[in-house]
Amino acid sequence: MSEVTELSNFIGGQWRPAICEHWIEDYAPATGEHIARIPCSSSEDVDDAVEAAMDALGGWAALSILERAKWLDKIADALDARGEEVAQLESLDTGKPITLARNVDAARSVANFRFFAEQGREFESETFEMSDATNRVLYKPVGVAGLITPWNLPLYLLSWKVAPALLMGNTIVAKPSELTPMTASLLAEVIEDVGLPDGVFNLVHGNGLDAGAPLTSHPDVDLISFTGGTDTGREVAKAASSGFKKLSLELGGKNATIVRSDVDIESMMPSIVRASFLNQGQVCLCGSRILIHESIYDAFVGSFLTAVTDMIVGDPADEETVLGALISQSHRDKVLSYIDLAEQEGGEILCGGGAPVGIPEAFENGFWISPTVIDGLAPDARCAMEEIFGPVVTLHPFSDDQEAIEIANMTDYGLAGSIWTSDVEAGGLMAEQIDSGMIWVNCWLHRDLRVPFGGVKNSGVGREGGRWSLGFFSEAINICVKH
Ligand code: NAP
Repeated sequence: MSEVTELSNFIGGQWRPAICEHWIEDYAPATGEHIARIPCSSSEDVDDAVEAAMDALGGWAALSILERAKWLDKIADALDARGEEVAQLESLDTGKPITLARNVDAARSVANFRFFAEQGREFESETFEMSDATNRVLYKPVGVAGLITPWNLPLYLLSWKVAPALLMGNTIVAKPSELTPMTASLLAEVIEDVGLPDGVFNLVHGNGLDAGAPLTSHPDVDLISFTGGTDTGREVAKAASSGFKKLSLELGGKNATIVRSDVDIESMMPSIVRASFLNQGQVCLCGSRILIHESIYDAFVGSFLTAVTDMIVGDPADEETVLGALISQSHRDKVLSYIDLAEQEGGEILCGGGAPVGIPEAFENGFWISPTVIDGLAPDARCAMEEIFGPVVTLHPFSDDQEAIEIANMTDYGLAGSIWTSDVEAGGLMAEQIDSGMIWVNCWLHRDLRVPFGGVKNSGVGREGGRWSLGFFSEAINICVKH
């Protein structure tokens, strides 16, 4: 049995339990073991955190962007020094393989702080000359930023918001997912250790309804940056609208992976498998629908199945493991219900479909599903249109580029997609016709942090990343001085 860690809120530089002294239990997805308890915070805790953030705002906003960039460097250095701890906690709390937690979660969290520190150093505001006047653009902090994040990439996504919010002079109240609280607390420890002024970063643990919702509707919160599901995003948008809060919504996806007839199947296969199943398919950008040109359908499917069934599913602590557990019992049940639905919709399960065979005893109470490949569904079947967010992909043939584009654009989502082809020009032209925020050609999740990140349709509102984050986390003010 591992030890049960008791986590606290971090408000105004103080560690505290929830005012109501209620707790939420946190379980390790791989084993089902009880590993932590977190404060079940309510609106009173959120009120305190917002007050602390408001008190700290004047002093923090008064610093120059270069001074704030130095604080980001300090946080990056201190987080980097605890990188292995971040990876271990993230792997325990999410059930993801340790190598993924090291190479993606821990590394990217540090990179986010370093990247935005550099953006701060390079930042220049614009001036626009008129014949008789000069216009200066001033980027002011928005105020208190409410940051709400999901469980799939906990610190990676939280740091993606915290770094630019701090850089642009805002103070923060963060509410991470109740399912993965560990590394948010570690970040608060790091922030305390480097000596960031009290109240600049506040952390409130708890569930969405009791802690998240009061944050989104709080009259003194000026901005909400939310990453999570589309249905929750709708609630957040409603709550934020009455106070005209600045709002960024990074929501769900149902992304298409398009494999053209001229693809080099063998060389692209490892990347296509990764795009389908990274983090057990629990990445908003994963390609959960693979559209394959009919002329190579059988060859592609044979090769894909071989690669998928070769993936090592199991102990997240083992460096050879490629796929770990799903986040929770209820999420596993949801994914399994989609696999049942796929059969009712006429789909054929080519591999997977349930718990991995021969999982060691230590993991029998964990939340496991083998990578699952489903063939034979109509492209408008529910399983091919709705976000499943698990290790499940559906396969669909197409006869020409136009049909592939139509299928890709058929869902209400529009987050990401990828195209695999030897003809990069044709791939680029096709990419322009896909209704998604991000399209990769012959790669996937190949991230340059300077580019815009976000979705269209039901996948979100607004853009973050690079200068888009700096714009979102600030108010651009025009000062026009007549000569
Ligand atoms: P979720 O259920 O929508 O939760 C996201 C966050 O919102 C959690 O912290 C949650 O708290 C909180 N929350 C729930 N109800 C709320 C409410 N009424 N008001 C305010 N906050 C509330 O999403 P999830 O299951 O954690 O994450 C999976 C989803 O995130 C998928 O749809 C995935 O596609 C999406 N996602 C999108 C991106 C992107 O960049 N577009 C990136 C990653 C994930 P609790 O969970 O603690 O109750």
